[in-house]
Amino acid sequence: MGKALVHKFIYDIMKKMDILFSGGDLLSVEILKKIIDESDNIVFFGGAGTSTESNIPDFRTADTGLYSSTGQKYAPEVMLSHSFFMNHTKEFYEFYKEKMIYKDALPNLAHVALGNLEKRGKLKAIITQNIDGLHQRAGSKNVLELHGSVYRNYCMDCREKYSLDIVTQSSEVVPKCIKCGGIIKPDVVLYEEGLDNYTIQRAVEYIANADVLIVGGTSLVVYPAAGLIEYYRGNKLILINKSTTAYDNRANLLIQDSIGKVLNVAIGEL
Ligand SMILES: [Zn+2]
Repeated sequence: MGKALVHKFIYDIMKKMDILFSGGDLLSVEILKKIIDESDNIVFFGGAGTSTESNIPDFRTADTGLYSSTGQKYAPEVMLSHSFFMNHTKEFYEFYKEKMIYKDALPNLAHVALGNLEKRGKLKAIITQNIDGLHQRAGSKNVLELHGSVYRNYCMDCREKYSLDIVTQSSEVVPKCIKCGGIIKPDVVLYEEGLDNYTIQRAVEYIANADVLIVGGTSLVVYPAAGLIEYYRGNKLILINKSTTAYDNRANLLIQDSIGKVLNVAIGEL
């Protein structure tokens, strides 16, 4: 029996038994490939790990201290909070511009593969916790950004909308509205702020109705990731993450490897 046939044989048995569980090896990627081939209702849920392969660091796991311009040390959760934005707007922007905007980052293999999967009509939605817009740059259309996007900005006074350029090209540290002079705020969900209800609602609908749910690059500890996964009702929960997650034992297929590498092999070209 050839290798591909052996894989198909094992896959068929696992499918009959309703268990698809294995470690991070070629066989599990092969099984993922088959699951993808057989479905046209796939949803992807991704976290910071999806973008670290584009050299965008996950600030939550960075243990380097973050210092304000006055030399004070703050946790990223403090500097990226609503109250810090309101009370220390200049320091917020100094930090934000340096640590949160990666205009030159390029989509990686994971973004490209998912873009291809949507074009094939198999991927219904991407739900992401990232704010870097890399899925859209890779061609994806239906992207639900739970935490907003650095590419959208608005005036806090008159609600005029602005692109990222107003933030990066502003001569002042704090970008101001051209129409009314109000302070411009990124459309990014800061700590202490609630998530957009409509986006959450749509994410829940996609997950609840998905045949296959691929969760990648997230340790599933940050709200609302873990809660959203609970809405999945199917039996093809695929977890791709380099390290262990709290949901590993719930996964039908567990692949502990690079998300870019895995999705590139499992999805491939358009
Ligand atoms: Zn304004």
